[in-house]
Amino acid sequence: MQDCIFCKIASGDIPADTVFEDDHVIAFRDLNPQAPSHTLVIPRKHIATLNDMQPEDEVILGRMYGAARAIAVQEGIADAGYRTVVNCNEAGGQSVFHVHLHLLGGRMMHWPPG
Ligand code: 5GP
Ligand code: ZN
Repeated sequence: MQDCIFCKIASGDIPADTVFEDDHVIAFRDLNPQAPSHTLVIPRKHIATLNDMQPEDEVILGRMYGAARAIAVQEGIADAGYRTVVNCNEAGGQSVFHVHLHLLGGRMMHWPPG
């Protein structure tokens, strides 16, 4: 998608601190980290929100979680624990409309989230 910042990161047009990539997903450090380790896992395919995912896209969600699992090990946060979050639309706190999984760790997480 033209004007999508995460599509531009996926294509390499905008630089990012990439921590993982394969044919389907790419993961990079969040510009404004909310935890000592905060990465975003995105599909290479442009899908605006979780609501826009079609049944045939669900395999991509599995790949996003698979990548998150591998990155958690890479980041050294797997055993202590971490949080994965997908914000959807305005009330969910989504600000970039290319679906993404937040992987946060390196500190205690609180519940309920804000
Ligand atoms: P959302 O609020 O949509 O769930 O999360 C969007 C995230 O993308 C935010 O945590 C924000 O800091 C991050 N972000 C926005 N623009 C950029 C960017 O250009 N590069 C990187 N690495 N992260 C970004
Ligand atoms: Zn996009």
